[in-house]
Amino acid sequence: MNILVSGGGVAGLASALELGARGHRVTLVERAAHLRVGGAPIDVRGHAIECADRMGVLPAIRAQRIRMAEHGVFVHADGSVAARLPVAEMSDSADDLEIAREDLVQTLAAALPASTDIVFGDSVDALADDGGGVDVHFVSGRTARFDLVVGADGLHSVTRGLAFGPERDHLRHLGLYVALTDLPAEARADRTSPLYNYPGHLASIARYKNKAFGVFLFRSGLLDYDHRDLDAQKKILLDAFAGHTEWKIPQLLDAVRADPEFYFDSVSQIHLPTWHRGRIALVGDAAHCAALLSGRGTSLALSGAHFLAEELEAAGGDHTVAFGRYEQRQRPYVEFAQNSVTDGGELIVPSTREAIDARNVRLRAVAT
Ligand SMILES: Cc1cc2nc3c(=O)[nH]c(=O)nc-3n(C[C@H](O)[C@H](O)[C@H](O)COP(=O)(O)OP(=O)(O)OC[C@H]3O[C@@H](n4cnc5c(N)ncnc54)[C@H](O)[C@@H]3O)c2cc1C
Repeated sequence: MNILVSGGGVAGLASALELGARGHRVTLVERAAHLRVGGAPIDVRGHAIECADRMGVLPAIRAQRIRMAEHGVFVHADGSVAARLPVAEMSDSADDLEIAREDLVQTLAAALPASTDIVFGDSVDALADDGGGVDVHFVSGRTARFDLVVGADGLHSVTRGLAFGPERDHLRHLGLYVALTDLPAEARADRTSPLYNYPGHLASIARYKNKAFGVFLFRSGLLDYDHRDLDAQKKILLDAFAGHTEWKIPQLLDAVRADPEFYFDSVSQIHLPTWHRGRIALVGDAAHCAALLSGRGTSLALSGAHFLAEELEAAGGDHTVAFGRYEQRQRPYVEFAQNSVTDGGELIVPSTREAIDARNVRLRAVAT
């Protein structure tokens, strides 16, 4: 079949890999001008490990494994250590594989069949499913017809908007925003990753391999801004941390101002009653974002891509059967991940000064 995959993140690349490996002709369209390789290290865990194995990428993931959380320390404003990150509390499985998002994206991209047609700098902007195929109109003005469309375009999926209606009907905001910025000047061999809190805010430096980047989280209700406007995103972040000159906040904010690959998003979940309509199916965050607090978004992206391709093969290409089976297999993992987010991020972004102090006291007690 001739299949369009919208989005070149983990879900889109894994879908293209799995569908291409089964002989489908895959076009992958990514809105950015290149694969977006930023991001904090992420976990491949539980059932996703077997999926990665079936995709043939598990040895590469194991070879690039890192153990970043072990280096995390909560610090006071003067940089002195307040408590250690509770690694055991944050990992619920002995076989979690932590890998830099960049390494996972590049591993999946390198494993794509040579026949994959990758189009950068474009996006779907209209889909017309007439039962026999889907006519797609792209922002560039190009048009093409596909047998199936797989929407893997993330939390703010355009494919989902076109096929399932507006985002506000499906988004559950968890009261936090996250931002990441490259921080080359802070790269160090020792890999200590300090995390600094003031009420409702976290500013931190994550170090792995020979890299460093700043990670910010702050509490806020849902904000209205253009998800594609980098300057608007930077302004929100800069305003949220304005007036704070303690610890390394000014230096981190300077890095934000200078970073062309700055990443900013809400910490939100997507809840949809179904992930397919006609010849269009959603995978990854587009279908069921579990939010970064779940630590399972990437695992779900891998398993969704794998189940979708496997069920399409098992059904002999009959998407009316395959899409339902894909959803049946994937949904229990999604519900588990979405329901696992219960503390609203209180461990890493306590809301009050008292809660920050109480957390540090508790973690120091656990460590002794
Ligand atoms: C740059 C970046 C950094 C991230 N950092 C972290 C992190 O530090 N921690 C964490 O837990 N999660 C992070 N995430 C999210 C995490 O990668 C996902 O939750 C998870 O891997 C599921 O992946 P996904 O492919 O469904 O979605 P995403 O990883 O969001 O990938 C979606 C892809 O679709 C592309 N896209 C969006 N709209 C369109 C469109 N209209 N047409 C074509 N392409 C489109 C995006 O550019 C992106 O490449 C990050 C995502 C990105 C893009």
